Amino acid sequence: MVAIFAISIPVQAEWVGDARPLMGTEVSVLLWHDDPAVGEQLVDQVFAEVERINQLMSTYIEDSRISEINRLAAEEPVVAGDELFLIIRRSLDISVLTLGAFDITYDSVGQHYDFRKHQRPDAETIEAERQHIDYRLVDLNQAAGTVSFREKGVRINLGGIAKGYVVERGVDILRMHGIQNAIVTAGGDSRLLGDRRGQPWMVGIRDPRNEGQVAISVPLEDEAISTSGDYERYFEEGDVRYHHIIQPRTGAPASGVHSATVFGPDAVITDALSTSVFVMGVDQGLRLIATLPDYESIVIDAAGRIYYSDGLQQPEAQDFDSPITDE
Ligand code: ADP
Ligand code: MG
Repeated sequence: MVAIFAISIPVQAEWVGDARPLMGTEVSVLLWHDDPAVGEQLVDQVFAEVERINQLMSTYIEDSRISEINRLAAEEPVVAGDELFLIIRRSLDISVLTLGAFDITYDSVGQHYDFRKHQRPDAETIEAERQHIDYRLVDLNQAAGTVSFREKGVRINLGGIAKGYVVERGVDILRMHGIQNAIVTAGGDSRLLGDRRGQPWMVGIRDPRNEGQVAISVPLEDEAISTSGDYERYFEEGDVRYHHIIQPRTGAPASGVHSATVFGPDAVITDALSTSVFVMGVDQGLRLIATLPDYESIVIDAAGRIYYSDGLQQPEAQDFDSPITDE
């Protein structure tokens, strides 16, 4: 059994695709088209859509709408536009569902991390900024389409959900153009359209502590799958790993889990839930997934143990050293 990801696909005329650095990660598109030239145009369209969404939702872009919200929403309601409004609303709904484990206001603390520069907030900064982490400080006015914050210091960041939205939109575009077999991936989030022409897509879940090694591969069709890991963005000091998934209650990186994978019908949900299960930990996280009939989860804890949600049949044990290529 060979895991097939964008890069490891044998070259065939009709599979067309590309991978580009976008949204602080790698975005890739692979699709099957009888006419490769048309297929390539569609690939470009998906990348254009990724850039459009990033321009709207990135806090790293000064003049993005979300940056404007972060600057102004404590003073006055800010018009978000339908798309951003909807994603913020879905984020807040997921905060309710996860009892606050998923919280886009984590960014009051989150903004003080710079993983490339190995910077982290000191204890005082965390203590002060932590007060502003609470999704209930974000008010949405459906009729006016506006967002406002109840106090100064609140910030939102869609890093835990926007990539799911991007891959969902990418696949929507392909589906609208009659594509039946495709995979769109942004970092740890993938949305699959159809199968791999007669076989399921094999999606590899990385071994969190061995780059390039796959711990488990999952056969999937027409589904979304997201993995949140403590290996995506991090730095180490002594034996502490400071990574990018924040426990909203403490303002510190969540501990106890190395990676959380969620799959199901909608990439927006799998993205937010993989972050949530990571924060909630094995017990609470899998209990949440058990309440959602369409979603399943695989969690690898800090000891490297693998846990499966109730609805999953445990796959046969797999050889960690098998030459399977990860995403
Ligand atoms: P990746 O970005 O590697 O796909 P995730 O989907 O788990 O991984 O998203 C992690 C991102 O989510 C972080 O980089 C940050 O932007 C954001 N984030 C971190 N902690 C939380 C949290 N508790 N709730 C919501 N978003 C979070
Ligand atoms: Mg996520």
